[in-house]
Amino acid sequence: MGRPFALDPLFKALTVLPGVGPKNAKLFERLTGGTKVLDLLWHLPVDFIDRRYAPKLGEHPAGKIATITLTIDRHIPGGRRGLPYKVRGYDGTGHIDLIFFNAKKDWLEKQLPPGGTVIVSGKVEAYQGSLQMVHPDAIGTEEERAEIETVEPVYPLTAGLTNKIFRKALAGAIEFITPLPEWIDETHKSKNKWPDWDKSLKAVHKLQKESLLSPAHPARQRLAYDEFLSNQLALALVRLKQRRQNGRAFQISSDLRGKVSNALPFELTGAQVRSMREIDEDMASPLRMLRLLQGDVGSGKTVVAVMAMLNAVESGCQAAIMAPTEILARQHLESVRPWLDAAGVSYTVLTGRNKGKEREEILHRIASGEANVVIGTHALFQEGVEFADLGLAVIDEQHRFGVHQRLALSSKSKGTDVLVMTATPIPRTLTLTAYGDMEVSRLDEKPPGRKPIDTRLIPHEKVEEMVGALKGQIAKGARVYWVCPLVEESEKLDLEAAEERYDKLKAHFGERTGLVHGRMKGEEKDAVMAKFANGDIDLLVATTVIEVGVNVPEATIMVIEQAERFGLSQLHQLRGRVGRGAAKSFCFLVYGKLTNSAKERLKTMRETEDGFMIAEKDLELRGGGEILGTRQSGLPEFKIADITAHGDLLAAARQDVQMILEKDPDLESERGQALRTLLYLFEQDQAIANLRAG
Ligand code: ADP
Ligand code: MG
Repeated sequence: MGRPFALDPLFKALTVLPGVGPKNAKLFERLTGGTKVLDLLWHLPVDFIDRRYAPKLGEHPAGKIATITLTIDRHIPGGRRGLPYKVRGYDGTGHIDLIFFNAKKDWLEKQLPPGGTVIVSGKVEAYQGSLQMVHPDAIGTEEERAEIETVEPVYPLTAGLTNKIFRKALAGAIEFITPLPEWIDETHKSKNKWPDWDKSLKAVHKLQKESLLSPAHPARQRLAYDEFLSNQLALALVRLKQRRQNGRAFQISSDLRGKVSNALPFELTGAQVRSMREIDEDMASPLRMLRLLQGDVGSGKTVVAVMAMLNAVESGCQAAIMAPTEILARQHLESVRPWLDAAGVSYTVLTGRNKGKEREEILHRIASGEANVVIGTHALFQEGVEFADLGLAVIDEQHRFGVHQRLALSSKSKGTDVLVMTATPIPRTLTLTAYGDMEVSRLDEKPPGRKPIDTRLIPHEKVEEMVGALKGQIAKGARVYWVCPLVEESEKLDLEAAEERYDKLKAHFGERTGLVHGRMKGEEKDAVMAKFANGDIDLLVATTVIEVGVNVPEATIMVIEQAERFGLSQLHQLRGRVGRGAAKSFCFLVYGKLTNSAKERLKTMRETEDGFMIAEKDLELRGGGEILGTRQSGLPEFKIADITAHGDLLAAARQDVQMILEKDPDLESERGQALRTLLYLFEQDQAIANLRAG
């Protein structure tokens, strides 16, 4: 069974709507992130304008949005001096000037004929003792009053798209909303006084009351619940499928582990030992493992992953570790090489950079099982890569991959245990939405001997002073990261800023200065990183490419320029690049103009290094929507639900899903069928595929 026919209208292209052509369809797509009628409907109003206020001019309604009935007195064209075009009107209690820039005279004379009665709506302003309205939002005749004197929802827009065009298209889209079979339990629904799906969606768009903007409104709650329910159901189905598929019972490594342990220059922390034990239990059981290893930067996830891989290898299978970037894959290789060598385990590396004959050779080593351990980027899971017998897949820095890729991977690699590692401490509520399908191990203890990072806030005016101080530190052997400002939505500007800074610093510090940015070729990037790691370079200017996982323990100073532009989690990730060795480290947050929330962010950075605390604070400051909205986070993006406002609904949806699947794991009952419709509605196609495959 495919998508229910009832959903077809909602999945039509936006261009079926009034006023949407091929050209502005692009704008709608940019705005809503999709090309379907449904995408437009998920785009909810954030405010409204109440045009029901209809005062007399004598009440002096300056500063307010008002709808006014006027008799037109006369037109006063702007003339050659470029003054705006004025139309004066009166209502018996006073007069008002309607102001138009770049006016079309003919049009205005038709709309506002002298002597005629018109209705105008817009913001009234006081100007030099009299009233004016610049570009009324609406102009109409007495007959059109009912259309004008309304409450008008306001939508977030994008450049080139007006509220008027948007609302016209939306009015068309609303016609496509049809009743759907109910997927929410009736008792639960009536207890909360939730309306039906179609009524809820219509209500939030046709809002007549301020309360409809509130996340607590029953219609908004219902839609948020629908979204959480589909999210939790999708994750639970993956998990259910996972459970049904037999995995392998691995033998826990003793021989190889012993050899690696002997080669380790440190003792494992309590948290590492505990996580290893949890992983061992999963791997020893015949069920497939799907486990998340959550640990702040520098908490030592890599060695835990290696120990897990040894279970697979000692049991005669292969293990793979996948990193999100080329740099990280190479870095993994460098850090695990001595350990694997010590254990006599063979390995190979595969990334998008390997081409032609070289790639063929690597593929052969993987397919023949000659390589016990394979290290790579997502290239590992592309067409053409065949493993002899993959027992364990480790996915590092998960937040760069996203839930969908993980779902795809786990349905592709049959019977393979999966260990996902993330360095992003995720607030508890969010863990549920992103990893509801996984068991979680937490590395909540840092390796011993790390000194706290001394974090200081530096006003931009003092940069030169700081550079002077850096000179002294570098002379004493310090290695410095210098992260350049993030210019939103423009990699090119990022780059220019970084290059400019690089030139300046080079003038100061000479040849032992390097630059690394996102536009460099893989080899170039690696070469610079390697120089920095080896100490051939003391100062590395970078855009945020260094954000994830790079490990240079000798680096002890992190400078972040225009730190106010970064989010808390990002600052935390960046700072985590230092403080990895035994020497004392510093983080200088250079700031320009500070908003209140930026002030809070920097203050938090100065006060704590605890990633989980920082994550909670980040959620509090930005709200769930924004954190979830960041594409890179890999966390699911909710269209309607607001994780901070609807957190309790999420927990309820999770419980609901457990009950549903206990009773009806294949979603075959009447409610089960309705839930399938819900999954299609939220495009949880992967979940449906899992369902079908059983
Ligand atoms: P992350 O969790 O960020 O991936 P890594 O695995 O890269 O952290 O570890 C960071 C650094 O800490 C590495 O140099 C690693 O060798 C070292 N390390 C890991 N575990 C310990 C430990 N128990 N004691 C001391 N150093 C450790
Ligand atoms: Mg790591």
